[in-house]
Amino acid sequence: MTETQANIELILATTTDGIVVVDQRGIVLYANQSAEHIFERCNLPGSDLAIPVSHTATHQDINLIRRSGIGWAELRSSPITWEGQAAFVIAVRDITERKNAEIGLCLAAAVFENTREGVMVTDTEKRILRVNPAFTEITGYPEADVLGETPKILHSGCHSREFYEIMWANITSVGYWQGEVWNRRKNGEIYPALESIAIVKNAAGVVNNYVAIFSDISKLKKTQDDLHFLAHHDPLTRLPNRLSLLSNLQHSMQRAQRDDKYLALLMIDMDRFKDVNDSYGHLTGDELLQQVASRLTAQLREIDMVCRLGGDEFTVLLEDITDVEDVAHVANELIESLSEPFLLANNIEVRIGASVGISIFPGHGSTPELMLQQADSALYKAKNEGRGRFVYFSESLTLAARERIDLEVKLRHAIHHGELRVFFQPQVDISSGRIVGAEALVRWQSPTEGLISPARFIYIAETCGLIGEIDEWVLRETCLQGQRWITSGLPPLTLAVNLSPYQFLQGDISETIAKILRDTGFPASCLELELTESALMRRENEAILILNRLKVLGVRLAIDDFGTGYSSLAYLKLFPLDVLKIDKRFIDDIPLHRDDMEIVTAIIAMAHALRLKVLAEGVENKNQLAYLSTQGCDLYQGYLTSRPVPAKEFEQLLRQL
Ligand code: C2E
Ligand code: MG
Ligand code: MG
Repeated sequence: MTETQANIELILATTTDGIVVVDQRGIVLYANQSAEHIFERCNLPGSDLAIPVSHTATHQDINLIRRSGIGWAELRSSPITWEGQAAFVIAVRDITERKNAEIGLCLAAAVFENTREGVMVTDTEKRILRVNPAFTEITGYPEADVLGETPKILHSGCHSREFYEIMWANITSVGYWQGEVWNRRKNGEIYPALESIAIVKNAAGVVNNYVAIFSDISKLKKTQDDLHFLAHHDPLTRLPNRLSLLSNLQHSMQRAQRDDKYLALLMIDMDRFKDVNDSYGHLTGDELLQQVASRLTAQLREIDMVCRLGGDEFTVLLEDITDVEDVAHVANELIESLSEPFLLANNIEVRIGASVGISIFPGHGSTPELMLQQADSALYKAKNEGRGRFVYFSESLTLAARERIDLEVKLRHAIHHGELRVFFQPQVDISSGRIVGAEALVRWQSPTEGLISPARFIYIAETCGLIGEIDEWVLRETCLQGQRWITSGLPPLTLAVNLSPYQFLQGDISETIAKILRDTGFPASCLELELTESALMRRENEAILILNRLKVLGVRLAIDDFGTGYSSLAYLKLFPLDVLKIDKRFIDDIPLHRDDMEIVTAIIAMAHALRLKVLAEGVENKNQLAYLSTQGCDLYQGYLTSRPVPAKEFEQLLRQL
């Protein structure tokens, strides 16, 4: 072997390309080691590799069928003369890896271009490098609009900064985030997207890019919402159904327990619904149910929940109730409203009525199901009793509530039929012993029940909205009487009138009072208005404004029943008051109860420090008066001088003393 020959052998053995020589039929005459490696076969000479050969030099890529699978080879062949015969030398290069990568890229590109999901690639500074056609379709932004921008361009403003902070914390820590995001399209529309964001690292593990892939799920969401709505609502009236009621009731019961309030479940059943359905058909029946639903809803507060359980059965859930008898009101109003005629299509006018069963929590049932059962059995009783009524699950409540409603009806009547009276209780100046004024106290002279104390009806009047009329009437009556006494030559008196907190905070009370003073001619300086602590504290800032307006009129202001409410000195200072009335309960135990006496002493001292006159209420005996006198109390009223009496008797007292 010459040196050249030996070198060629060495070169053929070291090159990674395969070198094969084949004859004109394609039979291998020679193959180096790399060729055997590429074709994954030994002893190549003598075998047919099925390599296409041609007489000119060629360059082609072919598939390799190998034991390990299909690969790719790049072939370059040239004709040569080998051992005297015409042959071909072929250089074979394994390009399987490159080819696969190329195909992969091609596929990726096809996916990128054709997927229905929006894709956005950013650099590490979150600047957008590429987006796909679906991105443009979903967001409305052509690629040119967003290149170089950050994904903030898509933000809807629906999420807090914290939301994005958590998102990015996740991406940096686990390399990945997926979730629902509200984004904004170019046209301003907001839509929900399901989005995945991933980090792309290079071979060295360094973050190169972020890729976000998202789909518009607004349609999906809408169907989900629709499904949820359907599952929880009655399709006819669109009111919540039994399922919603039960789950809401559970929460309401917990809330009631926590807030120490009552809640009521009213079960309502139409009294003659079946007749309507039978005589006019189901379509008319359906229309009626829809109208019933809107009447019920219109009648109630925003927070009350109206449900349709099915058929002609509805429920109303009332929360935040302090007095269980109040529920009867709502029940009555609902019954009244449902007994008004309904005008249906084709000019059909129908009259139905309703019965109501009421269960109360806590008291009538500890679970939502029980509450529903008890309301249902109350409803059953109501229907049996003759319809158009409400019945509580417990009989005593039904009786009490009905009595109250009865009283209300009578009270309303009383106001307009002159059954109210004003009585006067003298207010005495302690140092001189003279009557210097009187408190006007309302009485109800009922033709059937005799004289009814305000303790029994003021509260009712407050809850059913009659108090305004009563207070105004008492005020006018008192001013008229006061003016009569002035013209008849009696010494000037201060007349005190009670104002209910409801009345005080509603409307412009100072305007009403100014008008009454004008109408009657009674001097403002002789009128004293008694307010309770609760009236002042409930809406403190408003109260200050109202009181200042009253002060401008020139009337005197007193705080009534002091010591029974907040009794806060700090607050008292804020209000322009003239008189503080110590509640009777602190006077009762003088001189037996040292604590109460000390409280009285303290109240007097404190009131004087605030330049208020002090009046003791409910003084019944001389001991009490003596103690009050030593403590410097200014005025008192009580049975010791007189009970509240009619104007005529009060005049006699004035003349006697
Ligand atoms: P009040 O304003 O604290 O009135 C004092 C109450 O104590 C009166 O009861 C009076 O009769 C009673 N009283 C006075 N001295 C004595 C006593 O020595 N011993 C006892 N045991 N009681 C005494 P009345 O007239 O039944 O009034 C009760 C409450 O009804 C009043 O408490 C006031 O809050 C309210 N009220 C009365 N008239 C009206 C009114 O016209 N409008 C408003 N909004 N409330 C009124
Ligand atoms: Mg009073
Ligand atoms: Mg009082």
